[in-house]
Amino acid sequence: VPSAGGARGPTVPGAGTGPLRAGGSFTRLQMVDDEQRFSDELPAYMQHKWGLSDVGFDYNMVAVFGSQSTGKSTLLNRLFGTRFDVMDEGNRQQTTRGIWADRGTDAMPVLILDVEGTDGRERGENQDFERKSALFSLAIAEVLIVNMWETMVGLYNGANMGLLKTVMEVNLQLFGADREGRTLLYFVIRDHVSTTTLESLAATLRKDMERIWDGLSKPAGMEDTRLSDFFDLKFTSLPHKLLQPEKFEQAALTLRKQFTDKAAAGYVFRPGYKRGVPADGFPHYAQAVWEKVVSNKDLDLPTQQELLAQYRCDEIAAAALAPFRAAIEPLRPRVREGEIVRELGEVARGAREQALGGFDEQAARYHADVYKKKRAAFVQTLDGELHSLALNQVKNAQSQAADRFASESHRALEDAAAKASAEGAVSAEHSFSVVVGGVRRRMTEWFGGIVKSLAIEGAGWSLESEVKQLESMLDATTAKLRVAEMERTLAQLRRNAQDALGEVIADRMGSPGDGMWAGVMAGFDEAVEQAEAQLRQRMELAEVGGAEQRQQLVCKLRRSVWEAMVESLREEVADQMVLLKLRGALEDRFRYDENGLPRVWLPSDDIDAQFAQARTAAQALLPLLSRIETSASRVLPDPSAAGAGSFFPAGFSAERSLTLIPAGRARELAKRFGREADALYLEAKRAMVTTQNH
Ligand code: GDP
Ligand code: MG
Repeated sequence: VPSAGGARGPTVPGAGTGPLRAGGSFTRLQMVDDEQRFSDELPAYMQHKWGLSDVGFDYNMVAVFGSQSTGKSTLLNRLFGTRFDVMDEGNRQQTTRGIWADRGTDAMPVLILDVEGTDGRERGENQDFERKSALFSLAIAEVLIVNMWETMVGLYNGANMGLLKTVMEVNLQLFGADREGRTLLYFVIRDHVSTTTLESLAATLRKDMERIWDGLSKPAGMEDTRLSDFFDLKFTSLPHKLLQPEKFEQAALTLRKQFTDKAAAGYVFRPGYKRGVPADGFPHYAQAVWEKVVSNKDLDLPTQQELLAQYRCDEIAAAALAPFRAAIEPLRPRVREGEIVRELGEVARGAREQALGGFDEQAARYHADVYKKKRAAFVQTLDGELHSLALNQVKNAQSQAADRFASESHRALEDAAAKASAEGAVSAEHSFSVVVGGVRRRMTEWFGGIVKSLAIEGAGWSLESEVKQLESMLDATTAKLRVAEMERTLAQLRRNAQDALGEVIADRMGSPGDGMWAGVMAGFDEAVEQAEAQLRQRMELAEVGGAEQRQQLVCKLRRSVWEAMVESLREEVADQMVLLKLRGALEDRFRYDENGLPRVWLPSDDIDAQFAQARTAAQALLPLLSRIETSASRVLPDPSAAGAGSFFPAGFSAERSLTLIPAGRARELAKRFGREADALYLEAKRAMVTTQNH
């Protein structure tokens, strides 16, 4: 054994000491040994054994990937003239685990990596070395030969696709962001003996690869990358080496050309696959990649114990979940239909406790970390289901509480209003806030009880926000009820004011004359002040918030009393009423003397002059009745002043609103009154003539 190979770098038997062996083969190096140590002899090999130190970028990297004993080493030796160990049937244990490197023969400046390992899956060991070496190969090779039997195509596990997925995933994480150079994945399908065409086999593999890529968890920022961003795919197949030895050799030779002959069809190496590492820097680069691979935690595989724990914990959880669901499920449709299921909380807690107890009893025996993780996941599953159910029930209770609050408050307020009107005053006991507050307390207590009954200790959820939500629902309803209550109060105060004003108006307008409007306005002021005082008291009791809101209500009340007064006034100046008043005034002056005694006309009396005087006086009342005179009021703003419109109703114009009898109607009434007066005059004349005749 030549000394350059070292203890960990055995040479092929019969190897020479110089760079070139007899037969054109070079000396191979165990680049990584079976204890995952990186050889420090790589620089020496590059320089002395392989003559690759001075080639700059003019060399290529090829590696191979695939299950054990699929003829990888055999193929590499055919293609590159290397002498990697080939396992022969009688001598299964002879090959030494590790990553082997060699140079292609003669003028071929290609470095080839062959991975030799134990087949982890078959032996039930972990795949640690397989993963690391594959990750290393993928990272540094320009072309990665993916080797598999034809019969493995489409078989995820058999073709080692699972490993490939893991390796691509980690590759993306470790090298993705600053990855230099793409990689050609060259699928070589061995023992192609069936009638399935290469195209169809390739299509299957291509689909598998796309699916693997879609399923990869990609680092942040690389979520949208595509397989083709990093990899080219190429496919070929070889005949059966034992059944069709000649054809196999022939095909291997053709394939060899693709790696050696730049002019050959399908030449595999492209500038885009290069890692940009000059040959003299390669040893350092390769070692750095290997260190990165070795120290990567993502590749740490679970131990056999952990695998077993995972498997069993899942099984135990599934078994414990069944009775849990059996207990819970019957309640679900009832809750969904809106029923408040009283026993829900108790059933939930019982089922949860039993499920967890059952899980703990069996699962706690297994690998502690796995058990802890699986338990947390199991708790999350249980609590997730319980939460949705509890939430459903709480939502039902919430809307019931809100509905009942609205309807029961409404009823209670009506009762209180009836009692208040029977007692003639609103006492604090029947006030809005006390009545509504009482209903609210009942509702929140009921709801709180339901929330409490659903609580589960240790569950990662709470129903706090639903409680808060109900409060704001009730707040909104309360605000609405309060508005309605204030509307009701306003209407009632208006009625009261109208009653009081009606008397004043009837009294004052019954005998119109000087001071009439001052009297009406005094009545108005009093009615407004009284209503306002009551309103302030009621607002206090109903806890109407905000000075602005209160001021608005006061303003509304004043307007409303004003409208009530105008309404009564208009009734008072209906045609017949006006004529009645004018005739009354005329008669008062003409038919009765200063002492209120009926006149008896004597021939000496100047009946014409008397009549004319009385009629003028009566007619003078018509303009007085035609327009409201507001100047005597203390509470009314000057109707013609700027801003008065904000007090008076919408669309207010002083001219229109203060006019009770428009000019046209007034003329008509004057005419009718004139005729009635004439009749009165004639009657008086006739009476005098009759008197004279007696
Ligand atoms: P490796 O573990 O993938 O490197 O496989 P080897 O190259 O060591 O070969 C394993 C066994 O498969 C040996 O007995 C080879 O003779 C045999 N072998 C190699 N190539 C082929 C092939 O193309 N077809 C068949 N059927 N057997 C092969
Ligand atoms: Mg091998």
